[in-house]
Amino acid sequence: MAPKCYLFISIMSSGGQLGRMLAASASLLNVQVNVLDVGADAPAKQIIASSSHIDGSFRDKEKILELASKVDVLTVEIEHVDVDALEAVRIAHPNVQIHPTPSTIRLIQDKFAQKQHLSLFAIPLGPFQAVEPTPDAIAQAVNDLGLPLMLKSRTMAYDGRGNYALHAVDSQSISSAIDFLGSGSRQLYAEKWVLFVKELAVMVVRGIDGTVISYPAVETIHKDNICHLVWAPIRLGGINEDPELPRKAERVAREAIEKGFEGAGVFGVEMFLLEDNSLLINEIAPRPHNSGHYTIEACESSQYDNHLRAILGLPLGSTRMKVGAAGMLNILGSSNSSSSMSSSLVSFSPDLLIDKLTYLALSTPGASPHLYGKAQSRKGRKMGHITVVGSSDAEVRQRMAPFSSPARTLPPHPLISIIMGSDSDLPTMLPAAQILQKHFPSVPFEVTLVSAHRTPLRLMSFAKSAAGRGVKVIIAGAGGAAHLPGMVASMTGLPVVGVPVDSKSVSGGGGGLGGVDAMWSILQMPRGIPVATVAINNSTNAALLAVRIISVGQPHLITQMEEYLNRLGDEVERKISVMGETGWGEYGKK
Ligand code: ADP
Ligand code: MG
Repeated sequence: MAPKCYLFISIMSSGGQLGRMLAASASLLNVQVNVLDVGADAPAKQIIASSSHIDGSFRDKEKILELASKVDVLTVEIEHVDVDALEAVRIAHPNVQIHPTPSTIRLIQDKFAQKQHLSLFAIPLGPFQAVEPTPDAIAQAVNDLGLPLMLKSRTMAYDGRGNYALHAVDSQSISSAIDFLGSGSRQLYAEKWVLFVKELAVMVVRGIDGTVISYPAVETIHKDNICHLVWAPIRLGGINEDPELPRKAERVAREAIEKGFEGAGVFGVEMFLLEDNSLLINEIAPRPHNSGHYTIEACESSQYDNHLRAILGLPLGSTRMKVGAAGMLNILGSSNSSSSMSSSLVSFSPDLLIDKLTYLALSTPGASPHLYGKAQSRKGRKMGHITVVGSSDAEVRQRMAPFSSPARTLPPHPLISIIMGSDSDLPTMLPAAQILQKHFPSVPFEVTLVSAHRTPLRLMSFAKSAAGRGVKVIIAGAGGAAHLPGMVASMTGLPVVGVPVDSKSVSGGGGGLGGVDAMWSILQMPRGIPVATVAINNSTNAALLAVRIISVGQPHLITQMEEYLNRLGDEVERKISVMGETGWGEYGKK
């Protein structure tokens, strides 16, 4: 028999999507869900029928106690619940489990208390300090932490609504900040402005038995303090980024949860990446998180599946990605509207622009639109999201391009990297680039110089960062004592194809052995570190072999390769027929 279990999902009037997706996961396991939220049509209530849903606020103690009287387990989709009410549940209903624990929720819902608590465990944080909502205190905080200064409301802050970036210390600027942050009615604190190069997030899951696992680190891109885009897994931008970064981010996030907070369930850990490759924790959410939506389509078990499994004491699911890459775009309300003006047969939401985005997603391979069933659209309100999956970061970015403006979509990362020791090798390596460009336009590639002997440090960072940048195959051309392909292969798990270059033929200098020197050098790799070697100067075959390697799991590339082979065959057929018509003697004179 399925466990008799109800979940308390408390929902703010501006939210409800996390509870909705959690309820969807619960429905697959016959887990009964009871939702506490205002109104009968709250997003989570829409998708799971129950006569026991409760109409009320997550800050209403009586309603929370009423809900607790009907359930075995309570959980939250938002941290701003009435924690005193949860403590009262403990006394009134000692058999009801609450995950995460009320003490964790209490610590986390006050961002300043959360940071103070984390600092006890030497978790990396930027400088911060309490500040009274008065001009003098704020001026003093500027004195201590500098400008710009991030002023934050300690409680009830989400989607950037509790943040104010103070850029000047004149009285007008300070009074605008105070007005924005509750006109003195809210407790504030100040953070030193963090000059981050990227924002990351890691979803951490803790089971009832204390097991802690994590999802791959993702990159989050915020606009006006609201998350717009998520790229999963995080791609390293340049060869100077630490190749260990994805694993380091997971480690830092897991440690923060292990050391800092009790209770089972999912925790969303937001982080800043600094120029020097160090990480700072920004904030932690004691629940599934916006930047983990992608896990529904992209991971073996979603964050919602795992939150349920964790709080019910069931085996945790695998957090591994089951696709090469994913992107997630939040669909934000474009205007204030409550009824659809769409003239199309089906209208998905009260917002015309959202209808358009949804149609676009429905006609894009790998794209899954999620709409949250909110009857009212407001500018900036989270109305839904679109997850796009693909075999590689390049494919996902290509598929996402119609949804997000060029400013928000970076150029695709290369799948194939063509490197050579010297620009004198370029004429030999150029055919590799040309054949990719001509016959395989969907395969992005890069061409660059990396010298095993003259730039050994660049060689090391190139090889170590390649996989993290999304590269799938490296083609390395080298002449003479051709160490480049082998050295690269010794520092990355990616396949490397070596092209022996006849350096004499291209530069008029070099080895002078017709490329045989480079050929033996690349071919005779020691056991354990293979390099695929093509014929001397045959970079074309290296490119074709690289496409064949990445076509594993990408049937359309196999089709493209077969079309290419057919074109080669057609060309020979054409020559046979011309030779037949003109006679071999005439043909041979051409
Ligand atoms: P919310 O609870 O609304 O998500 P956050 O504290 O996470 O609030 O802030 C939202 C966004 O504001 C962050 O994702 C980041 O882009 C920016 N931000 C927050 N704190 C800082 C800071 N100290 N320095 C620079 N930018 C910040
Ligand atoms: Mg945040």
